[in-house]
Amino acid sequence: MIVAKFGGSTLTNAKDFKNIPGILHHRPEIKFIVVSACKGITDQLIKLSSCSSLEKENCFSRIMGFHKNIINSLFLDSNELSNYINKIEIEMKELISSNFSLMQMDQLLSIGERLSSAILTSYLQSCGFNISCLDARKLIITDDNFGRAHPIMHKIKEVCRSSIFSQNYDGIFITQGFIGSTEDGITTTLGREGSDYSAAILAVALDADELEIYKDVAGVYTHDPKIEPGAQLIEKLNYSEMFKISNKGSNVLHFPAIKLCQHYNIPMNIKSIFNPYLKGTLINNHERKAS
Ligand code: ASP
Repeated sequence: MIVAKFGGSTLTNAKDFKNIPGILHHRPEIKFIVVSACKGITDQLIKLSSCSSLEKENCFSRIMGFHKNIINSLFLDSNELSNYINKIEIEMKELISSNFSLMQMDQLLSIGERLSSAILTSYLQSCGFNISCLDARKLIITDDNFGRAHPIMHKIKEVCRSSIFSQNYDGIFITQGFIGSTEDGITTTLGREGSDYSAAILAVALDADELEIYKDVAGVYTHDPKIEPGAQLIEKLNYSEMFKISNKGSNVLHFPAIKLCQHYNIPMNIKSIFNPYLKGTLINNHERKAS
């Protein structure tokens, strides 16, 4: 079983969503999907929290308009989705009418992932996939360190076992990256770029064979391929080599996600959303040195 994570850079507009059905047909082993917020949305939500009342209105309309545009372009007309969007709008309006505590900030930031996952669920259902969306706040149990909460692994395994393994369901589950909740049900976030971490946590809890991370590049390169055209793709790395690359400031993967996969020996495969048939970069415990 494969857990697949789609990052914000793979969800920039309606066209990007259309890449995902092909990947699911090509990789029937993908049984669990973790999604980030669409590109730039978390930044916009942060901006919204600190601007003036008038700007807040504009920011709110921009964020909702962006998502409604995607919904219209994908011709999604399910009642379930429009009710959900209305619910989020009400929640957001309530949140922005007050000052933000760290706790409310996490609640606000969770909206990006909740919107992208609701749209992706509805889109994949419209393409004929058997998809069930799970609220990550019911799966990823954390402490109350708002803004950078720590997952409580034994609780997460327990919840995953009772809510996922117990179901007689052979479709695909989808959930949000980045967000979780305390044992009392208060929304938390795992820190910026934390969706990789969510995907790694779920891959461990579900005892997945592999974690596939889809990006807008084909894997890990010797240099940034967007800046240096001669950059070479590295096909294989071990976890220690990947740590070194991450330490050099590359934001290819979230550090705690690599650490968790190394600890539980879950291979990570970084692949391109645009060219999923390419091998990408495989990170596991093998000994080959990075070139
Ligand atoms: N949406 C969150 C962020 O932009 C988490 C993630 O995408 O990994 O930081």
